[in-house]
Amino acid sequence: MLKSSVEKALNDQLNAEMYSSYLYMAMAAYFESINLNGFAHWMTLQAGEEMDHLRRFYSFIFERDGRVKLSAIDEPPFEWKSPLDAFETAYNHEVKVSGLIHKIVDLTRRENDHATENFLGWFVAEQVEEESSTLEIVNQLKMIKDSVNGLFMFNAHLGKRGSD
Ligand code: MG
Repeated sequence: MLKSSVEKALNDQLNAEMYSSYLYMAMAAYFESINLNGFAHWMTLQAGEEMDHLRRFYSFIFERDGRVKLSAIDEPPFEWKSPLDAFETAYNHEVKVSGLIHKIVDLTRRENDHATENFLGWFVAEQVEEESSTLEIVNQLKMIKDSVNGLFMFNAHLGKRGSD
């Protein structure tokens, strides 16, 4: 049985994962609009991963005899100044999400909810990966700078991302 404070935090995080998916879908649409289909492909897969995160929270809440409560999703941005601007937004967003996950871990410790703390361990590790992969792309885009050639080669590289 979940304590109501933990149940609320998990439902809030479910909403945050939905927003992440929405944000990356908005970025995919932005990349499509500037003909960077490889970037769009990468973001589409990322949006799918966020939906998987949402489903993990959904299932866990039920497993613990809690109740899933869906709430309104914020509207994501529509436009970015450049691919670098979009990926900097993605990186900063992942840092923020890591902070949200850590706060729920702190809450589970205060509430002595070991099962939820253990469940969240997967997300703590996943966030390290999410921050690292987006930061790597930010750094590569900084190296590419204004090279159109570099950008198109990188676009082809990102287009090869598999659904891992
Ligand atoms: Mg996520």
